[in-house]
Amino acid sequence: MSEGEVERRLEDTLRALVSFDTTSRLPNGKLIDWIEPRVAALGFRCERQRYPDDAGVEKVNLLAFTHGADAVPELALVGHTDCVPYDNGWAEALTLTRKDDRLYGRGACDTKAFLACALLAAERTRALVKKPFGLVFTADEEVGCLGAKMLLEARRGAARNAIVGEPTSLRPIRANKGYCLAEIQVSGKEGHSAYPDTGASAIFRAARLISRIEAYSKGPLRGETDRSLSRRTPRSTSGSSREAARRTSSPGAATLPSSGDPFLRSRWRPSRTPSSSSCSSCGARSPAARCGCASFAPTVAWKRPPLPRWSGFSRSRAVRARPR
Ligand SMILES: [Zn+2]
Repeated sequence: MSEGEVERRLEDTLRALVSFDTTSRLPNGKLIDWIEPRVAALGFRCERQRYPDDAGVEKVNLLAFTHGADAVPELALVGHTDCVPYDNGWAEALTLTRKDDRLYGRGACDTKAFLACALLAAERTRALVKKPFGLVFTADEEVGCLGAKMLLEARRGAARNAIVGEPTSLRPIRANKGYCLAEIQVSGKEGHSAYPDTGASAIFRAARLISRIEAYSKGPLRGETDRSLSRRTPRSTSGSSREAARRTSSPGAATLPSSGDPFLRSRWRPSRTPSSSSCSSCGARSPAARCGCASFAPTVAWKRPPLPRWSGFSRSRAVRARPR
């Protein structure tokens, strides 16, 4: 196959993949219907894992292996089928469009182009590859890797080595930031507004807390780097975030807030875990409950948002810090 032919085939495949609206809140079955017969025709054994998401919408993970179900693939190409939402004003969101030698469309980069590459690689190497090889295409990645967690729970889709397709400007990256979310409740004391000394404003207390978080985020956290990440995203970060954490279908989990609701988001560098970490507000070692943050009055509840049953996280404890 000439280079030009490869490019043309990739573009055609990408055009087809982009034409399916696989925004995470929607079913992705039609996209899987398009992919599956193509890999089955290459002799891959395909298996679908279906599950209803939180809203009852059916989602599908697709596993396609060159060998039997018991053979663990030497290599799996792993990608997700869902995309983040797009603005209604983007008329060509589902129509692959070439501009200045670049291809645009919702999910074209993240991560349908990788799916197209994986499909073409599977086709072109099918006759050469002797060891077990697989494709793992998941649903609901953009809303918390829920499809992958379903596979994990069912103990399906394991591979000895995996290449996960994500936009990294073609730099190999072997780790990613973690994600930790806390819902904060700040309590005050009611009083008459004409005599503010009789009460305590929860808003003022929240403002002081947020200021501390901002200072910590701009200070000590900046010093935390990890060479295993790309140069663009080496640091742990934290901040307040407006995502509705309870709605796991929210696409907002990775966005900075444009309005302020009391959520706290921390993204740890890979070698740091929330359990071994310090308070996001002041930097004291865990438990965050007994640190300097409490000394300036607010009652802070670190509460895990409800998680779907398959997430693998416990629903456990709210850690509470009382003013001293
Ligand atoms: Zn992605």
